[in-house]
Amino acid sequence: MARIKQAAPSALTVAIIAVISGHILGCTSAEREPTADAPGEPQAQQADTGQGGQVGAQADQASQGAESTGKYSPVKARARDFYAPNTEDLGPDEMRLIACGTGMPTARPKQAASCWLLELGNGDKFIFDIGTGSAERIAALQIPYNYLDKVFLSHLHTDHFGDLDALYVGGALAGRQKHLRVWGPSGETPERGTKYALEHLQKALTWDLDGRKGLTDPRGYNMEVNEFDYMGMNEVIYQENGVTIRSFPAIHSLDGPVSFVVEWNGFKFVFGGDTYPNKWYAKYAKGADLAIHECFITVPDMIDKFKFTPQGALAVGTQIHTAPEAFGKVMSIIKPRMAVAYHFFKDFDTTAAISDRIRTTYDGPLSLSIDYMVWNITKDEIRVRMAVVDEDVWPPPATDKPQLPDATQRIPYSDEISGGRLDMKKVLQPTYDEINKQYGIHEKQE
Ligand SMILES: [Zn+2]
Ligand SMILES: [Zn+2]
Repeated sequence: MARIKQAAPSALTVAIIAVISGHILGCTSAEREPTADAPGEPQAQQADTGQGGQVGAQADQASQGAESTGKYSPVKARARDFYAPNTEDLGPDEMRLIACGTGMPTARPKQAASCWLLELGNGDKFIFDIGTGSAERIAALQIPYNYLDKVFLSHLHTDHFGDLDALYVGGALAGRQKHLRVWGPSGETPERGTKYALEHLQKALTWDLDGRKGLTDPRGYNMEVNEFDYMGMNEVIYQENGVTIRSFPAIHSLDGPVSFVVEWNGFKFVFGGDTYPNKWYAKYAKGADLAIHECFITVPDMIDKFKFTPQGALAVGTQIHTAPEAFGKVMSIIKPRMAVAYHFFKDFDTTAAISDRIRTTYDGPLSLSIDYMVWNITKDEIRVRMAVVDEDVWPPPATDKPQLPDATQRIPYSDEISGGRLDMKKVLQPTYDEINKQYGIHEKQE
C-alpha cells in the first residue's frame, strides 16, 4: 500500500508558525489516518525521495540520523515539516495540491472560499475555483502570474468564483502578460452559463480597465472564456501538454454545477464542486489518487453556530450539499488514495463532529482541509503538510520582459477635473530627476 506521510506539528514548527503566520496558528495538520502504515509521529520515515527540496531533504537526513541514535543535536536542524512557498522543486513525476480556500461563502481570516491550486511536474498549474478571498492565498504562494493563467470553475456561486476579478486584474498588474483562460459550465439557459457571467463581469469592470489603459502592460487584461456543456458525462474539456481534464454534472441549487477529473502521467485527481452525493462522482472519481469532495458543516452546528432554522439546516446541510456522513459514504465507494473534505468552518469545536460523522461511513485516508494545507503526491507516497506563508509577500518577477504601455491609449480627464490639480511640479521634479538619471530616460511631468 502506498504510504501516507502526514506532518505532525512539532514544537519548533508551532513556534515558527506562531512567529511567521499568527493567523494560522492553531490549525491542525491533516487528520491522522488510522489505516496509513506510518501513523502517529513523523519519525521512522524513509528518506525523502525527491519530495522535498534540498533543504528539506538535508533536514530529513539530519533528523533520521538523530532519531536513529536516539539523540538530537543542538546545532543541526531537524526535519522541516511545513511547506514554505518557493523553496521546493517539484519532481517530474510529482503533483502538489495547495488548498487556497476551504470555507464558506462568508470568507473569514482563517478560511477563504473554495480554491485549489494543482501543480504538475510538467510545469502546468491549474486553479480549480477561485472563491471569495482566495486571491490572497494565491498571492502568498509566490508563483509568477504568467503560470497562473488557467482557471476551472465548478459553478457560479460567489464562494466558487467571487475572486475571479481579483485574479484577473490584480494578476495582470502583478505580471500576468497573457490572457486569463477560464473554463466553466453552461447553464439551462444562456443567462445561467459561464459565458454570460464572465462577459458581464468584464462589463462591470469597464471603469477599472479603461482607467488602466496607457499606464500598464496591457497584455493581461483579457479573458478567454471557454464554456462547456454542463451535461457532459466525463467529456474532455481540456487536453494540452499531456494533461486531460474532463467534467461531469453535479446536483446543486440549479442545473449547471460540475466536477472535474484531471489525468496526467498516470495520476488521477478529482475536484468535486458543490453537490448532493451523485452517481457520476461515484463512477468517474473511482480510484483517484486524490479526491476532493465538499463536506458541509453538521446540521446541529448549522443551527447552533450559523443560526439556521432546523428546517433550513436540514434542507441546505443535507439536500443542497453533502453532509459529512454522506461524504464518507461517497469516499467508501470510490476508495481514493486520499479523500479531501472541504466547505466547512474548521474550528476546535466543529472538527470532531465532522470527523466522527465521516467515520461512521468511511475508514480510509482522509484530510479535513484548511487553507494552506499542502499535498505532495507521488506514486509511492502522499505527504500532507501545512504551508507557512510570508505575510509581507510581493509579486514575483514577471517571466517575460514588461511591455511599455502605449501612452496614446490614456483616456484624459475632463477639463473640469484636470483643472483641479494642485501645483506639485516643484515637489515631484526631484523624483523625475532621480529616476531619469538612474535609468537613462527622459520622462516629463504631465
Ligand atoms: Zn454552491
Ligand atoms: Zn459552495
